[in-house]
Amino acid sequence: MTPFHYRDHRLCAESVRLSDIAEAVGTPVYVYSSQALQDSYRSYADAFAGLPVTICYAVKANDSLAVLRLLAAEGAGADVVSGGELRYALAAGIPAGRVVFSGVGKTREELAFALAEGVMQINVEVASELDVLSQIATAIGKTAKVAIRINPDVDAGTIAQISTGKAENKFGIAYEDAPALFRHAHSLPGVEPVGIAVHIGSQITKLEPYRDAFLRVRTLYEELKADGLPLERIDLGGGLGIVYNQEEPPSVAAYAGVVREVFHGLDAQFVFEPGRRIAGLAGVLVTKVITEKQTATKRFVIVDAAMNDLIRPALYDAYHPIQPETAPDADTEWIEADLVGPICESTDQFAANRPLPPLLADDMLVIGAAGAYGAVMACEYNGRPRVPEVLVRGSDWAVVRRRPTYEEMLAAQNLPPWLEEA
Ligand SMILES: *Cc1c(COP(=O)(O)O)cnc(C)c1O
Repeated sequence: MTPFHYRDHRLCAESVRLSDIAEAVGTPVYVYSSQALQDSYRSYADAFAGLPVTICYAVKANDSLAVLRLLAAEGAGADVVSGGELRYALAAGIPAGRVVFSGVGKTREELAFALAEGVMQINVEVASELDVLSQIATAIGKTAKVAIRINPDVDAGTIAQISTGKAENKFGIAYEDAPALFRHAHSLPGVEPVGIAVHIGSQITKLEPYRDAFLRVRTLYEELKADGLPLERIDLGGGLGIVYNQEEPPSVAAYAGVVREVFHGLDAQFVFEPGRRIAGLAGVLVTKVITEKQTATKRFVIVDAAMNDLIRPALYDAYHPIQPETAPDADTEWIEADLVGPICESTDQFAANRPLPPLLADDMLVIGAAGAYGAVMACEYNGRPRVPEVLVRGSDWAVVRRRPTYEEMLAAQNLPPWLEEA
């Protein structure tokens, strides 16, 4: 049974009616299913059973403390991209020894904090970061364990905005330059190159780009080992896609099959950094219809969620499934509509020409596949309070990030003294 399903014509998350949550918390609101999060994490754990792996959930997909805690209890590590995310992961109970710190631009403060906390691995993809790490690590008497992220120059076949493994992208170190950089890292005091990392993009729905990238990683790993470098780890990143619409992403088991095949017989530990595949299908955004507007050529359904709450359609032209909270009768006529928010931008649109049943003010719609890169990208544009988040478990649910009050939003600002008297 999927975690989001109709029961008595009403859409539920596990055993909770989404309308019950909406009534208590208001809309828009994100709702996550514990079961779905657990199931997707376990699909990774099961697929790699028997291999020495650390599954480092990519915190940037959904950084809710509750989600992190749930995954920590499953044994997950974390892939973080900032000092803030590192703090979230630690606060949720993920040990530093299971945290990878990734990113193309880390500050000295962030690196110093990560070293002081003793993270498992820092993924380096800019040569100068090695020198900074060496300085900081020797100053505090620590060793920075680093993986160097290489750019395998493969086309992940995903959209340009989230493709990261082509030579023209800003990510990674060119394959040809990697051996020299590994040797440089090895020569630096306070730095120990322990692994190779790769991450070729996001929402990947084919196995071939992975296989191509992994083969290059294996070749490089064996070359560097033969060269005497003390490598022990291979970080294969994340990026496995989910079904938003008609995509057919591979199963985690099939993906693991490629890993097993390519790295057969190699003595190494493996790290994975899945984000979207863990959280994406585990969350929905519940919104209420404000009104409808019929123009000469179009039906618009205007809802109380907007691009500030879920920016993927505006940013990537992304498709999200949309379901009415109350299932209409079988003979109801569904008529195409554009689903839009109240923000004064034409990109504030969740769907175009989508068949929807007749809707009245206060009817609810549920935007699916919104558990990853949804709430984390929310902001307060247009003076709209940041959207709250709810976690469901069975018939229980709890607000795990509340909506700020307008007073709190105002309290974060202050006037300079010279304007106070105006
Ligand atoms: C974004 C990112 C991930 C997670 O990507 P998903 O597509 O959500 O799995 C993993 N590793 C790195 C380095 C990333 O930048």
